[in-house]
Amino acid sequence: KQLEPFDLIVFGGTGDLAHRKLLPALYYRELDGQLHDNARIIAVSRRDLSDDEYREWARKSVASQVNGLCDLAMQRFMERITYVSLNVDENTGWENLEQVLAGREDITRAFYLSVSPKFFGPICSAIGEHGLVTEETRVTIEKPIGHDGESAHAVNETIGSVFKEHQIFRIDHYLGKETVQNLMALRFANVLFEPLWNSAHIDHVQITVAETLGVESRAGYYDTAGALRDMVQNHLLQLLCLVAMEPPESMEADSVRDEKLKVLKALVPMDEDRVNRNTVRGQYRAGASAGGAVGGYLEEVGNPHSMTETFVAAKVEIANWRWAGVPFYMRTGKRLASRLSEIVIQFKDLPHSIFLEEAGQIAANQLIIRLQPDEGVKMQLMIKDPGPGGMRLRKVPLDMSFAEAFKVRNVDAYERLIIDMIRGNQTLFMRRDEVEAAWKWVDPILEHWANDKEPPKGYTSGTWGPSASIALIERDGRTWHEE
Ligand code: NAD
Repeated sequence: KQLEPFDLIVFGGTGDLAHRKLLPALYYRELDGQLHDNARIIAVSRRDLSDDEYREWARKSVASQVNGLCDLAMQRFMERITYVSLNVDENTGWENLEQVLAGREDITRAFYLSVSPKFFGPICSAIGEHGLVTEETRVTIEKPIGHDGESAHAVNETIGSVFKEHQIFRIDHYLGKETVQNLMALRFANVLFEPLWNSAHIDHVQITVAETLGVESRAGYYDTAGALRDMVQNHLLQLLCLVAMEPPESMEADSVRDEKLKVLKALVPMDEDRVNRNTVRGQYRAGASAGGAVGGYLEEVGNPHSMTETFVAAKVEIANWRWAGVPFYMRTGKRLASRLSEIVIQFKDLPHSIFLEEAGQIAANQLIIRLQPDEGVKMQLMIKDPGPGGMRLRKVPLDMSFAEAFKVRNVDAYERLIIDMIRGNQTLFMRRDEVEAAWKWVDPILEHWANDKEPPKGYTSGTWGPSASIALIERDGRTWHEE
């Protein structure tokens, strides 16, 4: 359905995120005819560019990310783009933006802050001071929101002094992924799973987000952040919430967010003993990735004493009726053996087997939700091996690969999230209290690690992380899921 007219103002319009994600996402919405004739994209950044120079840059960005461009759509797309040069540090150029926005107070005005987080506060304050907040204004901020609970609170306070909570869209792009949405469909549009979705039937849950890349060009930022802040505080905890939450009353934003918040509040706090026993931090060393030799983290960031972790594994406990006694094992890292993100729901063993030993081992059921690559859902079941050989059992997957099942283009998370934001739908965005509750759980881990003199455990690039992460799950008599 076509969107109402809007002005989308992208701060950081010449940045990497705009180049790789935002502009291609908007182009696809153009291609689908979803953008009204009176919808504009206003790119803002420091550089001094004319509209045409920026359009040329934007055209190249889209062309580098999209196969088979449509000239007509590209032409329409170019025409709706305007460029404004503005320097946040020097607080100059705001009058240019004021001019471009003047007279369009009645339509949706969406600010997208695709800039370094240090600018979130100053940009929001300036937007307020220049009187640019209208009734239908929203603001989207990228991660990271703070580097701990206190700084996140401060960022939220500043933004909250200019915008009301219903106007603030905190992006966690994992929530826009097709399979993550499907997790909600699977749980709440089928009767099959919900009765089993608890400690009586589920043995444990695994959440893996594995990358093969190293820090690449983000070394400067990454060395001050690390995997816990960069991945666990937001993406992994959000995935955990969607698996663990109670059925919300409806898909309304606050119903869903209320339930996620309850999960975050029920996480068992990480005291020192738990941090020592239940977390593993690692750092990649030289090794091999995608067939080639690669250097180690310390050399790549040029800091031989860096204690920053590029890998985290943790055993997380949720203290509520549904999940008491069901561990959630999470792991994420860079330079791991393969690029893989998945959630594994491991059901309990049968209470009793009626089969003879020759029938073979009975593997407990597993529901595997694959986020990447090859998005899909797989249910591991036991069946009888076909043929005359008597009752022999075999594990087979009931497999639904989305790419095979649906011959549609794989829509990027940003496409969905930008549209939701323009429409004002906050269901897939994080509310302030969620972000702060997630930090509250993460903060003690950061604190104990900071006091721990022992460096992160080294692991060879191209492996599954430090052996301590394998020990973390195996000492409970369980193993990480492997294909
Ligand atoms: P980037 O460094 O590539 O781009 C920054 C942009 O800010 C540029 O357009 C630059 O011109 C502009 N800018 C810098 N200083 C400015 C100033 N003084 N005044 C006005 N504009 C100025 O950053 P990015 O990678 O595009 O990231 C943008 C945001 O998105 C950050 O918050 C980042 O944490 C977040 N993010 C990025 C990615 C990614 O893949 N790139 C992923 C997740 C989140």
